[in-house]
Amino acid sequence: MDARTRLSNMVWMAALACLLVLSLADVLFFSKLASGGEAEAQSASASAGGNADVADGAATGGAADGSANATGGSKAGATGASASKSDGIDYLVLVNKTHELDEDWENKVTLVEATNQRGSTIVVEKQALAAFEELQEELQSEGVVIDLNSCYRSRAKQQELVDQFTQEYGSDYVEKYVAKAGHSEHETGLALDVIPIVNGVEMLTNDEMLAQTDLWETVHTTMPKYGFILRYLPNQEAITGYEYEPWHLRYVGTPDAEKITKSGLTLEEYLGEA
Ligand SMILES: [Zn+2]
Repeated sequence: MDARTRLSNMVWMAALACLLVLSLADVLFFSKLASGGEAEAQSASASAGGNADVADGAATGGAADGSANATGGSKAGATGASASKSDGIDYLVLVNKTHELDEDWENKVTLVEATNQRGSTIVVEKQALAAFEELQEELQSEGVVIDLNSCYRSRAKQQELVDQFTQEYGSDYVEKYVAKAGHSEHETGLALDVIPIVNGVEMLTNDEMLAQTDLWETVHTTMPKYGFILRYLPNQEAITGYEYEPWHLRYVGTPDAEKITKSGLTLEEYLGEA
């Protein structure tokens, strides 16, 4: 173990301890403090909450990472919406900066809960979760471990994040990094942010995750048959609105996931909405 790994482990353990004892407000405060510090401090803030892109694309930087705490901490709040509802949703639904999710979606989607390895409650659309568990199992048999991090959040939660970030970082920041309510794919329950676990260590910062190129290659080539696509492809920001996010998996079901992946197209292009 080199010094950097040791330091990273220490940071992770410290962050875990913080998570156990701090309230949401405390964690946010902590992350704000950390985001002003050096790289290690930033990764501490990220560790406390994971990579979760508030907005999708919120990505790098302590502030954006820290915001994941808010999402993670309130996941359980979404469970009120997890009561069984009728199915019949469009698994190819397009949500981006210009396509707003139908307000009626929350009444139609069936959300279920899962517990990740960290013990957090994660809310996901029912069929997507079942498919993810199968994907996870196959990957595990190949020695690749990924876990759920940030998945469903309600429109109301997204609005809370927008308000909170506007207050803390200003509207320019929000405009750039945080999706407006109704415009985050995470509101569908079909977007799954996952984290790689390498040798038992969670890769939590965006930099750590982006460095796992071999791991992502395996994940991305295995997942289409389970109905998942890579939503934010490299160099397609002009179309998708977001930079490359290897961790953001989108459930569209089969056979569409295989067709889309094979085509190399973005979901926007596949649907003729680019
Ligand atoms: Zn995401």
